[in-house]
Amino acid sequence: MLGKNLHVKRGDTVMVVTGKDRSKTGKVLQILPKKEGVLVEGLNIVKRHTRPKGNVAGGINEKESPIHVSNVRIFCAKCKKPVRTKMNLLEDGKKARICVKCGESFDK
Ligand SMILES: [Zn+2]
Repeated sequence: MLGKNLHVKRGDTVMVVTGKDRSKTGKVLQILPKKEGVLVEGLNIVKRHTRPKGNVAGGINEKESPIHVSNVRIFCAKCKKPVRTKMNLLEDGKKARICVKCGESFDK
């Protein structure tokens, strides 16, 4: 992946630690490396009014908007809270992120 190595990846479960969706969890849908943002399923929803176009009816469109990566933490299902992760070098040379508290791997 280009750009900075963000601490979250697509498919991770994260908890928002600040803002209106604080303490909510969701699954990462998309990483936006340039914006250092993440789209999280069901979180930071913005409503957009859309005009009718051709045969598509206008209305209110709800869509996830990016959350800055510094505002989310990996959520550990075992610890049941947001946690910090550390890199663990696997036997085959690959790196995996694990929970600093319980050792749960987030890169299965
Ligand atoms: Zn844990």
